[in-house]
Amino acid sequence: MSKSPILSAADLHKTFKVSSHNYSTAVLTALGQVSLQLSAGETLGIAGESGCGKSTLAKIMAGLMEPDGGSVLYKGTKLSQLGQGERTLFRRKTQMIFQDPFSSLNPRMRIGDSIAEPLKIIGTSTVRQREELARIMAAVGLQSDAANRFPDEFSGGQRQRIGIARALAASPEILIADEPVSSLDISIQAQIINILLQMKTDFALSMMIVSHNLLVLRHICDRIIIMYLGEIVECGPASMLFQRCRHPYTEALIAAIPGLHIAAVPKSELLQDDLPSALSIPSGCRFHPRCRHAVDLCRHEVPKTVEYARGHSAACHLSNRLYD
Ligand code: SF4
Repeated sequence: MSKSPILSAADLHKTFKVSSHNYSTAVLTALGQVSLQLSAGETLGIAGESGCGKSTLAKIMAGLMEPDGGSVLYKGTKLSQLGQGERTLFRRKTQMIFQDPFSSLNPRMRIGDSIAEPLKIIGTSTVRQREELARIMAAVGLQSDAANRFPDEFSGGQRQRIGIARALAASPEILIADEPVSSLDISIQAQIINILLQMKTDFALSMMIVSHNLLVLRHICDRIIIMYLGEIVECGPASMLFQRCRHPYTEALIAAIPGLHIAAVPKSELLQDDLPSALSIPSGCRFHPRCRHAVDLCRHEVPKTVEYARGHSAACHLSNRLYD
């Protein structure tokens, strides 16, 4: 497996203007300064609570949203420097799967036509379209007669299969999935996860999976990035993060997983209060108002990201003291 980055981000920054209660405009910081790399053939998980910026990051990485600052690079070239043809190729080679696939399907279009649409756009012959449609539908576990039906005739799990099939029809290199199983029943979640794993192998994909469910990410990902209020606080191999995390926020997220009993203190003490508003990012370490280890330094100084083992880094002033 090649380790060269197929997709990377350098210092991504994104804000949104929002109306506040007194009709003035406020600035919400969705992404602080985010840099990451997705290697060819890798599955990278992005985790964090709702509002941590992970979905915004996914859309920017897929080229569906422009950052305010920083760059996304596809095979080493900034998206902003791609010519029109290269940009179209990037859009085709980087496909996104959404939490609610229904919203991305035309309710008046038969499923077969929806899935085959990317094939038509790239000029695939009608005969070949039929062959590819049959192959892709079989690969995601859809019956061939489903092609003549409409989106509202399918369950949530089947719609997600349709969303994956539609993405695969574009012959992608990169699949970016935003909470691909969070709206599904547990039993269906496992089926969709297995399909994604199988597709990664069969179609030689690199994948970025956004999820608040760390167990799903541990099962499916090579590496996991933990985000908090728009910044990366920890990043490392999935197994290493679970065996020996290096950030109190990661520790709290893992401890919150039902059935895992790793914490020596009550779970409620590991994560205090609710996520602060992204309209008012705390000074110093942005996690300090919720961190039970916070000291004065944490309130004033932004912690540097330090690499503790190969590919495993975290941003916490006290990481050595807490986890060595
Ligand atoms: Fe907690 Fe301080 Fe580490 Fe932030 S830098 S996670 S507040 S100990």
